[in-house]
Amino acid sequence: MRHLKHEAEFCVVGGGLSGMAAAIAAARHGVKTVLIQDRPVLGGNASSEIRMWVCGARGRDNRETGIIEEILLENLYRNPMRNYTMWDAILWAKVRYQENLKLLLNCSCNDLVMDGDRIRSVKAWQGTAETWHTVEAALFADCSGDSVLAPLSGAEFRVGREARAEFDESIEPEQADKRTMGMSCLIQARESDRPQPFIPFPWAEVYPTEDDLPHRDHRLPQSNFWWIELGGEQDSIHDTEEVRDELLRAAFGIWDHIKNQGDHGADNWALEWLGFLPGKRESRRYVGDHILTQNEVRAEGRFDDLVAYGGWPMDDHHPGGLRWKGEPTIFHPAPSPFGIPYRCLYSRNVTNLFCAGRNISTSHAALSSTRVMATCALLGQAVGTAAALATQHELTPRGVYQERIDELKQTLMDDDCYLPWNVRAVPELSRQAQLSASEGDPEPLRNGIDRAMHGAPIGDAYNGWVARKGASVEYRFAEPQPVGVSRLVFDSHLNRTGQNMPCAYPLQAEPANVPPTMVRAFRIEAEDADGRWAVIHRESDNYQRLVRISMDLTARAVRLIPEETWGGDEVRLFAWDLDK
Ligand SMILES: Cc1cc2nc3c(=O)[nH]c(=O)nc-3n(C[C@H](O)[C@H](O)[C@H](O)COP(=O)(O)OP(=O)(O)OC[C@H]3O[C@@H](n4cnc5c(N)ncnc54)[C@H](O)[C@@H]3O)c2cc1C
Repeated sequence: MRHLKHEAEFCVVGGGLSGMAAAIAAARHGVKTVLIQDRPVLGGNASSEIRMWVCGARGRDNRETGIIEEILLENLYRNPMRNYTMWDAILWAKVRYQENLKLLLNCSCNDLVMDGDRIRSVKAWQGTAETWHTVEAALFADCSGDSVLAPLSGAEFRVGREARAEFDESIEPEQADKRTMGMSCLIQARESDRPQPFIPFPWAEVYPTEDDLPHRDHRLPQSNFWWIELGGEQDSIHDTEEVRDELLRAAFGIWDHIKNQGDHGADNWALEWLGFLPGKRESRRYVGDHILTQNEVRAEGRFDDLVAYGGWPMDDHHPGGLRWKGEPTIFHPAPSPFGIPYRCLYSRNVTNLFCAGRNISTSHAALSSTRVMATCALLGQAVGTAAALATQHELTPRGVYQERIDELKQTLMDDDCYLPWNVRAVPELSRQAQLSASEGDPEPLRNGIDRAMHGAPIGDAYNGWVARKGASVEYRFAEPQPVGVSRLVFDSHLNRTGQNMPCAYPLQAEPANVPPTMVRAFRIEAEDADGRWAVIHRESDNYQRLVRISMDLTARAVRLIPEETWGGDEVRLFAWDLDK
């Protein structure tokens, strides 16, 4: 068989949202990166193969930003009817056309070579091209969900639930066990204008009454059927194929129940799609320099090295899944946001191995919150950004913690990642300048906090600049200054709801839209040393929250004029910096 070798600085295994964010972040910071993904599409549990909603921190103004927000805004712009092929294409293009990033799809990583306590190379099989790939790199990130590199490298990992006493976790069982949350195959249905009969398969389960599906919401179009879940009492890696068969028997039986067992108002609904690839919730978790626990989550995780945050409840599914007739999950409360420390994002004993996604170093209890995908994407961006610092300064992942943690946090905030209780350092060029606006108070634009805080209403407490279309805001320098970059953060309505990818297709589907709060058109003008103004940048179709514009000029003053929005009456901006 053919064998190709690749030399990279950073290799990411697994192309879910965590792996994508890790690979994109590193590549954008100039690191030569390879991303190995065993499926034909990217996105992991969010992809068209599994179709879970991207969830994250709850509560006002807590939505995740950075790469995940960039992806979701691109989806709102290009894919208003929320079609899964468009979504797959958006994810693929983000990676495929990213400079410094090589994507290996349909490529399953299954072996590696160690050099002492570090990984030297990994090996992967690409069935579509009958090719073995070996990727040699200085740094690796395991974003495979199942932590495939852990058993291969000898990295320490955990599986299952801790005993209550180990970390004093009240929601854990008395005795430790290997039970996990299960895996699921989901159902999507489409409404039609005429009856859609369904002939049940003879091999499927039968659920004759409502009592056979207690606490399992199967109304159309609301339910996304996350509770079709099994495998938590088996080995959630090695038993996957058997569990998948069982899930298919269950899912087709549930569809038969909806169509043929009692009136579910589903006569005109047809089965549109049923997942044949189980989505997994839990398997191996790395042991890092820190293990995040229930009590730390409850205490808001205000770690000095917090590089990401969660905010989903501790959503701990019963390992029995469908076999358990009680509530399928318990939502144990968690604060939103809570910080996640960097020390959970690398292996304790394999010295060049990061991890991001549901496999980070947490207890089972903490995992039941950190596992949601917007949180996973933040973890990935933190790992990719740390890999860039490690590459630049020839450090291990632990070395970044010891020597560069403040720089990592600042870089993440510059890249529009929100780190609760931290303030971004604003460039000196912006701090030293005189800031004025034709109307409203522009000072919040340089206060280092790039979002409204805790539901502050529009007005003084909005923490941004609000003005009429065509108003201007201006930085003026005492002397003409070289200006190299302009960084803008627009308002993408972090409290927007109901714009997830669909779980069912009613006849009248509402389109999604770029948030009306977003500035669509703007221009930037500069005044040169002789007092002459010129337009130096014009944008007519912006749909991104974070916008960086490279400039190469010397100016006495620079002004920004937001001209049009995606529907809102006012223009809104959280940050505007100029830097050398
Ligand atoms: C049914 C279900 C419902 C859920 N509900 C929600 C929800 O509503 N909202 C939410 O945000 N989260 C939800 N979750 C949790 C969330 O989907 C996962 O925790 C999350 O996807 C984990 O992200 P990840 O990047 O670590 O893994 P994944 O999304 O699983 O991505 C890992 C990727 O790595 C690939 N991979 C694995 N092994 C290899 C290998 N050897 N070589 C190369 N590639 C490999 C996999 O194919 C996969 O694409 C749900 C999970 C399940 C299963």
